[in-house]
Amino acid sequence: MGEKKTQLPNARRTPRFAGVSTFCRYPLLEQISGTVDWAIYGAPFDSGVTYRPGTRFGPRAIRDASQYVKPYSIAHDIDISEVLSLADAGDAPVNPFSCERNLEAIYDFAVDLGTPPATRLMAVGGDHSIAYANIRATWERQGRPESGLPLLHFDSHLDTVDVTLGERWSHASPFIRAIEGGFIDPRRMLSVGIKGPLNTSDDLRYAREHGVTVVTYEQAMHEGTRTIDAFLDKLGDAPCYLSFDIDVIDPAYAPGTGTPSVGGFTSSEILAMLRRLAGVRIVGADVVEVLPDRDVAQNTALLAGHIMFEILCLDAVRRRMDGEAR
Ligand code: MN
Ligand code: MN
Repeated sequence: MGEKKTQLPNARRTPRFAGVSTFCRYPLLEQISGTVDWAIYGAPFDSGVTYRPGTRFGPRAIRDASQYVKPYSIAHDIDISEVLSLADAGDAPVNPFSCERNLEAIYDFAVDLGTPPATRLMAVGGDHSIAYANIRATWERQGRPESGLPLLHFDSHLDTVDVTLGERWSHASPFIRAIEGGFIDPRRMLSVGIKGPLNTSDDLRYAREHGVTVVTYEQAMHEGTRTIDAFLDKLGDAPCYLSFDIDVIDPAYAPGTGTPSVGGFTSSEILAMLRRLAGVRIVGADVVEVLPDRDVAQNTALLAGHIMFEILCLDAVRRRMDGEAR
């Protein structure tokens, strides 16, 4: 066993049900003197929703449920606490009344967090509108790449609606706004798990016209995890952002969400899909749309904690590959 980069409480001595909750029992950022590889922060905001609110309680529920997320991945044969220094950076100072002002507040908080650019940002929502702020902060910290960042997007919905209910800023629009800002490259954007029914066939038009690669759940169901391989080949070594909306998972497995869409990935299918991304260079991420008041037995929040873990595994695997290449 190597030297630990993240000091976790010894679960054989301090039980997982004891102590103050942080994401996956990672230390608080303020307790760490050096540089951390990932600052994980909550974005408890849900005033950007078009249907049922309540995801403002997501970060707390995920912290609580994630006490049982352990650091060693059998699938990747990697202990992320040995490879990555990880910290819970607390919650962004959200503004619950204005989606647009809230995005400024989260961006201001995130852009200087930890040690830029070495520290990568993972935002835990909250509704999907918050992804815009974390994407923008990540793009900034990556040196403002002119072409924008590639985006790996898991969701039942495309989230590229221009205006809904008279509003340009909402959880239906984070990616159209991020593309307009130049933070995301739509020709290197992959949306996985999309399913209908939609309001109108026009909802697909933005993606088609801007070169977004759309993989519906039905395609993934028939073709399996290899359905994303061609897209991943195209990405090569590029630094990528990953945005994960929990409603991509069937509400039978993840009922705690505000805009549930039936007939989606099972828990194990989505974990396999994420593991397929091994080798991709992830430089920023978010996990959003967990709504604890609709959750059953903390299933959704627990799954969200595991998805955070699987995303961190991808970076750990990538660093191991880079180390071997040297
Ligand atoms: Mn969604
Ligand atoms: Mn979404």
